[in-house]
Amino acid sequence: MAIIKENISEACKRSNRRYEDINIIAVTKYVSCERAQEAVDAGVLHIGENRKEGLLNKRQALSDDKVIWHFIGSLQSRKVKDVIDHIDFLHSLDRLSLAEEINKRAKKTIRCFVQVNISGEESKHGLKESELEDFICRLKDFESIKVIGLMTMAPFTDNEQEIRQIFRRLKERQTYIQSKNWEHAPCTELSMGMSNDYQIAVEEGATYIRIGTALVGKDE
Ligand SMILES: *Cc1c(COP(=O)(O)O)cnc(C)c1O
Repeated sequence: MAIIKENISEACKRSNRRYEDINIIAVTKYVSCERAQEAVDAGVLHIGENRKEGLLNKRQALSDDKVIWHFIGSLQSRKVKDVIDHIDFLHSLDRLSLAEEINKRAKKTIRCFVQVNISGEESKHGLKESELEDFICRLKDFESIKVIGLMTMAPFTDNEQEIRQIFRRLKERQTYIQSKNWEHAPCTELSMGMSNDYQIAVEEGATYIRIGTALVGKDE
């Protein structure tokens, strides 16, 4: 935790950003509830899970009502009813049918990131950049959904320039969507950066970084 905070702080200095503007999500999908609890006890405020079972288990086990819950994986529509009232943020909104289901089930407003597949890799979820504007425009009909930002995953590579370009393009899309001044889509946040690339993500404007292995490790 200390090393990660230090790295974030350095990245903020390099890019003239404020450390307080970066939210660290501890991704606990690889670890036990005990390990997740340790992270919370050490001061982690945001917990991220990518599956229904993991989310519900951790929610039940963790004793801290200040924890903020993030669903970061792709979400099947039929599972929406089981998870939606247990999360504060969804990082993977990528289709209208999912938005419809959320709107039908949610009892409160869900803060959503629209997931964008900037790299174009087939293995990745998310909208194409060209589909983004139309998609977000249509979300205005769903009163339970607030588009607070965009999310992407960079390719798994050592090529720092390639990663940086992906994050930059997401930032550009965010600026464009913000310029629309849509009430349902303030789009002030960027969810990008994982264990391997969070420093680059912070330099390029991330406000939520999702760190698993480097923060809480990985159980065998
Ligand atoms: C697993 C996961 C992470 C964290 O991965 P690490 O490389 O362990 O930091 C972040 N975001 C998403 C969407 C994930 O599925």
